[in-house]
Amino acid sequence: KEQTEIIAEEEEDAFKKEEEDEEEKSFEGLGLEPRLIRALNKKNIDKPTPIQRVAIPLILEGKDVVARAKTGSGKTLAYLLPLLQKLFSDSASKNKQEAPTAFILVPTRELCQQVFSEVMSIIEYCRVQLKVVQLTSGMSTSDLRTALAGPPDILVSTPACVHTCLSNGVLQPKAVNDSLSIIVLDEADLLLSYGYEDDLKALTTHIPKRCQCLLMSATSSTDVEKLKKLILHNPYILTLPEVG
Ligand code: ADP
Ligand code: MG
Repeated sequence: KEQTEIIAEEEEDAFKKEEEDEEEKSFEGLGLEPRLIRALNKKNIDKPTPIQRVAIPLILEGKDVVARAKTGSGKTLAYLLPLLQKLFSDSASKNKQEAPTAFILVPTRELCQQVFSEVMSIIEYCRVQLKVVQLTSGMSTSDLRTALAGPPDILVSTPACVHTCLSNGVLQPKAVNDSLSIIVLDEADLLLSYGYEDDLKALTTHIPKRCQCLLMSATSSTDVEKLKKLILHNPYILTLPEVG
């Protein structure tokens, strides 16, 4: 898997100017399928944000990406859209799997809910059979077992819940290793300060080499650097201006 490192600096002004430009980039231009673009239109979203413009094509190509852009810049769709498109094409040829194809890891229960809703709001318009599950901290072992039976295509969870599933046998390390093809660490700048380091370490040993890793954050910090070392090899680094 190819891994390269670039820094993309883009000013908000440049974005506005480009937006007025007739040649402006559309979601179509980024390589997304019509059904995803239709779903976006239903949500009144018709122009990609700067981070989406840069990240979507790279993620579609299969690159590992670290994206840093301020809160509210559209990082969720920047990874969700290409992730969904990859799963659309996977699902036809998918072998019988025993673990999810994609993990989206977030630091809080609220974010879990938010990301879950965002995924569902897109796939409801896509006429596709994708199973998406979120894990929450109150779930019993049997709740977890039920949630992961199937298994889902996409798992949205905190690292702690995934660790629990690995510890109690609800998720088999070998199955994770066989099935996982995309992992997203969203709000990566918060994951370590929220105390998920050990949970992430328990998981990273089972992430297969071929797995595409995406790390989204609002700020850069030593924690993000640490996570990069933990799960990424030599990713694309996309940086958009921070707030303030
Ligand atoms: P971040 O994760 O960078 O903080 P979010 O992904 O939560 O930002 O997006 C912030 C808001 O912007 C959400 O309400 C989302 O629906 C909206 N949004 C995302 N992409 C676009 C877009 N291309 N055009 C308009 N609104 C968008
Ligand atoms: Mg976000």
